[in-house]
Amino acid sequence: MHDLVIRNGTVVTPLSAQKLDIGIDGETISALGTALSGHRVLDADGMLVFPGVIDAHTHMDLPVAGTRSSDDFYTGTVAAAFGGVTSILDFTVGSLRSSIPLDIDRRMENIQPAIIDVGLHAEVVGWKPEESGEFAEARRRGVTSFKFYTAYESSGRRTTPAIMRRAFEHLADLDCVALVHCEDEDLIRSIMESLSPEQMTDMSILARARPALCESTAISQVGRAAAETGCRTHIVHVSSAKGIMAVQEARKSGAAMTAETCPQYLVLGADSYERMDGHLFSASPALRTLGDQTMLWNGLRNRVIDFVATDHCPFTREQKTWRGSFVDLPYGLPGVETLLPILYSEGVGKGLLSVTDIPRLLSEGPAQIYGLDGHKGSIEIGMDADLVIFDPALEWEIEATFLHMRTDFSPYEGWEMTGKAVSTISRGEIIVQDGELLAEEGRGKFLFRALP
Ligand SMILES: [Zn+2]
Repeated sequence: MHDLVIRNGTVVTPLSAQKLDIGIDGETISALGTALSGHRVLDADGMLVFPGVIDAHTHMDLPVAGTRSSDDFYTGTVAAAFGGVTSILDFTVGSLRSSIPLDIDRRMENIQPAIIDVGLHAEVVGWKPEESGEFAEARRRGVTSFKFYTAYESSGRRTTPAIMRRAFEHLADLDCVALVHCEDEDLIRSIMESLSPEQMTDMSILARARPALCESTAISQVGRAAAETGCRTHIVHVSSAKGIMAVQEARKSGAAMTAETCPQYLVLGADSYERMDGHLFSASPALRTLGDQTMLWNGLRNRVIDFVATDHCPFTREQKTWRGSFVDLPYGLPGVETLLPILYSEGVGKGLLSVTDIPRLLSEGPAQIYGLDGHKGSIEIGMDADLVIFDPALEWEIEATFLHMRTDFSPYEGWEMTGKAVSTISRGEIIVQDGELLAEEGRGKFLFRALP
């Protein structure tokens, strides 16, 4: 007799989709079989059961451009839970004046209210080669991935190629992962300098000011440092066909490179910037073309792209008020709650993905790359009982008012979806059931990532 049994669902793994009961004891999956009995039973007849989604790229409670992303770790993880997400990886807030271990200590306080499990990537800002001990210190704190920017010089976040190469040497020794935001700073600057004053006031210029070429140029450069140092390198939010080709080239040259993309790059295009409310779609990288979207879906299918994450960085309409230029906006889109339904409805529903791609791209992929796969990312005996019960036939419409992210718009407002998470289980606890929140604030745990 198990504590909890999920009965009669179709359990979906990267290899198969089959009718199985799942037995859970405590926080762990303890049995997979038929006719299991439990003290509590959740009937999942007609439902798909996926491993809990791991969103490996979120920005809750992030200070940016004189404001803060509008979800904190409570509202953001509640929204995540409603969307079937049971773990997130967020970021420390790096600064020129602090150290990476100090950033981690500070961020540990911010994440306290989370209702799902939260791990951290460390943002690397203003790092110098004589500070190499900071990486080892971060590793001792359970943080084994480090985020670099090739752009954003004005805010001090850019790391030059020379410094990045030195950092990669240290990270390779520690077997840690470097995440890189790839946009070529010099190219962006030269394009910006060529824009007329009128163009600066035109939202639709954003995609031309930060074109796909910026992305591929930066990926190629990072790829050379990765190949030379042997550092495991992960390219965040790949947005373009050119970007995908640069990732493939880097791998051919010997770089241990992985890549993610985000729902917004799969389903939204730069034509969004021409809408009346186009400024709400400000994001970096910029939205691209239909051709890019097609190549990204192909990349997911043929495993060139390893997983999908959201880059969830929500702002309200008020925060995104148009102030006369596309440079005077906070950049980022909400998405943690709509990740699974969009991948399912737009991907599986339209024949671009198969149902078994969902656990590979949303759970197993990020778990393997970030060293969570000992506990999370798959439905197997001994793993954390992180599960989402998903109704593949439920038809609904995306409306910001009925979502739980703390923002008053969705980039997908009015989109018709088929398929929705109905119940979410985190470490054996039902935290959302039939649209009702059952979790206590602060129940989430820190995802301490230990390396062998
Ligand atoms: Zn990001």
